[in-house]
Amino acid sequence: MFVTERWLNQYVKLLRLAEAVEQHCRTNGFETKMDKGEGWYHIQALKAGVARSIVGARRCLDITMRGSAEDFVVTVGTGEWGKNIFASAVTGALTLGVGLLSAGASAVAYKYFEDRLWDFIKSQVSTLKNTDSQPVLLCPKCRKHISLDFKLCPYCGFNLK
Ligand SMILES: [Zn+2]
Repeated sequence: MFVTERWLNQYVKLLRLAEAVEQHCRTNGFETKMDKGEGWYHIQALKAGVARSIVGARRCLDITMRGSAEDFVVTVGTGEWGKNIFASAVTGALTLGVGLLSAGASAVAYKYFEDRLWDFIKSQVSTLKNTDSQPVLLCPKCRKHISLDFKLCPYCGFNLK
């Protein structure tokens, strides 16, 4: 039930992407919380009015961003409010069936928002493209870091094209 998308070579500053997504959820009436660690951000978004009305149902949108500026994955699914990234990634899939039965209304509400959230994430990735370290490659001959624009290695003259 988790949808994952991977981006390569976009050089997106993940913190800015995470903050934009969190802000977007708030603007749409969600309560949010964000955790971060080495190379990952985890955002949970709870639609207060819907989820809270159902006893025992603390389902929320669960968004993770993992990786580096040049190679990262974004995962969006339905998790349990307060559960951390690794626990929810495992148990979220297992408990979703039960959650859907008891929290059908909120699941539908989340699903609707989730589809539009992907549009938002994709537009943010293109907006934030190249906000982190600029593309570089390693010269295959002298192993120095070189900007992608160079046709010849400025250190050893190796033809890069
Ligand atoms: Zn070189």
